[in-house]
Amino acid sequence: MRCRVGAGQLESRITDLPFQIGDSSIVILRSLPVLQCRQCGETELEQTTMSRVDQLLAAVDVSAELEVIRYAASLASGSLSVGLSADYSVQAGL
Ligand SMILES: [Zn+2]
Repeated sequence: MRCRVGAGQLESRITDLPFQIGDSSIVILRSLPVLQCRQCGETELEQTTMSRVDQLLAAVDVSAELEVIRYAASLASGSLSVGLSADYSVQAGL
């Protein structure tokens, strides 16, 4: 897989990434698996990771200014398994 900015090779990394929700809430996802470009440092999420992140962010209490969520722990505590993207859309609709 290649970077969409340049032609750099993407490599798998585990990192912490902040996401802004609404006007004033920041959620930091810890131990998140990402793909990072070796050349420009641009990070991308795989589709399955992105689906899970969307679901996590949708469940966040937006009245909190800052929330830190362990991505790996959230996977372990749920009954979801990575790759079953059909289940994500069902749960996200709740
Ligand atoms: Zn790049």
